[in-house]
Amino acid sequence: MNNAKLFIISAPSGCGKGTLIEMLKKEYDIFLSVSCTTRAPRNGEKDKINYIFLSPELFEETVKNDGFLEHASFSGASYGTPKAPVDESIAAGRDVLLEIEPQGAFQVKKKRPDAVMLFILPPSLASLDRRLHRRAETSGESEQQIQKRLATARADIERAFEYDYVMINGELDKAFDDLKKIITLAKNGGEGLEAFSAENMKDKIQEVLDLC
Ligand code: 5GP
Repeated sequence: MNNAKLFIISAPSGCGKGTLIEMLKKEYDIFLSVSCTTRAPRNGEKDKINYIFLSPELFEETVKNDGFLEHASFSGASYGTPKAPVDESIAAGRDVLLEIEPQGAFQVKKKRPDAVMLFILPPSLASLDRRLHRRAETSGESEQQIQKRLATARADIERAFEYDYVMINGELDKAFDDLKKIITLAKNGGEGLEAFSAENMKDKIQEVLDLC
């Protein structure tokens, strides 16, 4: 029986989820969807590896041709998940991981109710602020852009209450163990994951929100 699962991970940008997902890919056979975006590549980012970088015109054409499973505007750019590779992977029995922001995540959940939604919280908004400033040293982002990302992060975290599971990216080894546990157990129905349910994590979510 094909029991391939669709996993959706959301986390504010600068939360360190990239490292966790890289680690997961090395240990777990999962197809990591490459999104399309209209934003410019950052230092070191490669076309078709990190993102498929599209012009706004080509992006719109793909929307019209129903080529996206979901798409959303975020921080002044458009982002979308190409539909065909996700369908092909699931049909071939391989799990799929989407790393997308909440607007897109809920669009997918509506279309694929059995998708598993996981939100990764930063330990605090102060830590996110530090990471975003550090990253801006190489990306050249302005203070205004950083502040916009922080405001978006807050709005995203407010939606964490609606996810299936919520975990914290604090200490890396612990966070990686949590991520593996969530992926493995969620695939088998979610038994044993009560501690990570959004309901049980609601105080933690609120704590991160209160600290900003
Ligand atoms: P960044 O520009 O920092 O790479 O990503 C900004 C945000 O866009 C992140 O929260 C990331 O999860 C989200 N994102 C990346 N790809 C997609 C996508 O295909 N669809 C949606 N809805 N969001 C995406």
